[in-house]
Amino acid sequence: MNSIKKEFDSLVKSVEDKESLKQLKSSFVGKKGKITHFFKQMNGLPDVSKREFGRKINELKGYIEDEIRKKSQEIDKFVKQRALEQELIDISLPARINKFGAVHPITKTIIEIENIFQSLGFNVEIGPEIEYDKYNFEMLNIPKEHPARDMQDTFYVNDNVLLRTHTSPTQIRIMKDTPPPVMFVSPGKVYRRDSDITHSPMFHQIEGLLIDKNIRFSDLKGVLIQFLQMFFGDVPVRFRPSYFPFTEPSAEVDIGCIMCKGKGCRVCSHTGFLEVLGCGMVHPNVLANVEYGKEYNGFAFGLGIERFAMLKYGIDNIKLFFENDIRFLNQFSYMAGKTL
Ligand SMILES: [Zn+2]
Repeated sequence: MNSIKKEFDSLVKSVEDKESLKQLKSSFVGKKGKITHFFKQMNGLPDVSKREFGRKINELKGYIEDEIRKKSQEIDKFVKQRALEQELIDISLPARINKFGAVHPITKTIIEIENIFQSLGFNVEIGPEIEYDKYNFEMLNIPKEHPARDMQDTFYVNDNVLLRTHTSPTQIRIMKDTPPPVMFVSPGKVYRRDSDITHSPMFHQIEGLLIDKNIRFSDLKGVLIQFLQMFFGDVPVRFRPSYFPFTEPSAEVDIGCIMCKGKGCRVCSHTGFLEVLGCGMVHPNVLANVEYGKEYNGFAFGLGIERFAMLKYGIDNIKLFFENDIRFLNQFSYMAGKTL
């Protein structure tokens, strides 16, 4: 029994996992174990010796079972400890920041302008970029031989189809299909054969139209002053007489230069003002072309998104918008996150 105890003591020391411990247990106190074998030997002993022998075996059995229980707890503790060490989180490491894309400054400007007009009750409408000559020119009071066509160099697809030179044909499309009143803005891409530091062959405009009964020029002024001051802040706004074939009377709108606050600088050519949009009362010929009754009138306006974005964010080259330089675009991620 003593040698069995010694054998057990030396074996249990070297056990490191639950599986080996289980095997060890079964080889000593299992059905075919060494201790169980002793019990079988008891049968041949006299009664007096039997009692003494049985007590000693039970003692040894109890000792082995206790040791195995202790070892089992030790292994549990060790496994837990090792897991804690291996799965340790180093909280001193810098966090991995999720990278969010940046909203393109053109998209951001369009969304800002749409939001302002939607807050004033305007809808948002979208028209196609490939357009009929009829909608782009003729129905907007710019007939085939009209000198105003010289103002815009056009990409023609064929004699009757072109890449729209402005967002104004959306006015025709909406009015043709919608009885008055109508009230919407329409952003989108437009195309002209033009390319230099302030012009790109593709650029963005946003168009606005409001048609109802008894619309006055003062309504036009009120809406545009409100819009410009919501977009640029508290700037002076002035209207100058101008000419567009599809509006009469027509005006160009200037804001006080936001670079020099009206003092005069290179950006405003030392005038203190910047031209930002064109507008006017919709020409009666246009309303007749979409078969609106004579009791309806209204105003329209159009502006260049790139120009608004350049003025608002101090960008001096229009090409930056289209080169997709990530260093430029990333500068708008924070601002985008803040307002969207
Ligand atoms: Zn200026």
